[in-house]
Amino acid sequence: TLLNNPAIALIGAVADAIVQNKDFLTSLDAAIGDADHGINLSRGVEAVRAKAAASPNADIGALLKMVGMTLISTVGGASGPLYGTAFLRAAAPAQGKRALDGETVKEMLAAAIQGIKDRGKATRGEKTMLDALEPAFEAFVQGLEAQKPLVECLEAATAAARQGVEFTKTIVATKGRASYLGERSKGHQDPGATSAAIMLAAITDFCR
Ligand code: ADP
Ligand code: MG
Ligand code: MG
Repeated sequence: TLLNNPAIALIGAVADAIVQNKDFLTSLDAAIGDADHGINLSRGVEAVRAKAAASPNADIGALLKMVGMTLISTVGGASGPLYGTAFLRAAAPAQGKRALDGETVKEMLAAAIQGIKDRGKATRGEKTMLDALEPAFEAFVQGLEAQKPLVECLEAATAAARQGVEFTKTIVATKGRASYLGERSKGHQDPGATSAAIMLAAITDFCR
């Protein structure tokens, strides 16, 4: 249940953060896309929340697999398959686990990022979720290498993700809908980078 399975409570915390930022994310997408990012993701996380409640004893790997499959089938757009693939890939290192150490989280983040790259063919600097996630990963690994506690590694990752979101304001989009705007995409923060930072922040707050 919610009380004895912290992974399900964490899913709820991430879902809450997305739903709280639904209008904000949608308004960011209105500026450089098609005004649906917050709507898309909120629909997805509500479906995930419902399924998680129905599998109270699932391990972290099984839950992440469910999250990935559910996002793919409910979010739609570009971000559904991208986030879906990310969570499916992150599930593999967590298979059968009910707790995670720093090294496993590192593997999960690396796998998630590689999944997004495989699926979306984007690289850092193209004004996508990768501009939040790659710096976050690097900060996380730096924290691990400095032997900081996991929460501090996550805090560093979240700070780096937020800086990455700021950076997306300064660059032109070359992938996704925002790329249709060319130079006019500059000056706006990327919705997907923003949602990625919001999810990381929610995970960090939960672990604090
Ligand atoms: P859509 O653009 O289909 O309406 P969303 O609005 O839900 O989908 O998601 C848009 C976000 O998806 C963008 O802000 C960007 O971060 C991300 N995105 C789009 N294309 C790619 C890609 N090829 N690789 C990585 N991320 C991408
Ligand atoms: Mg959109
Ligand atoms: Mg859309």
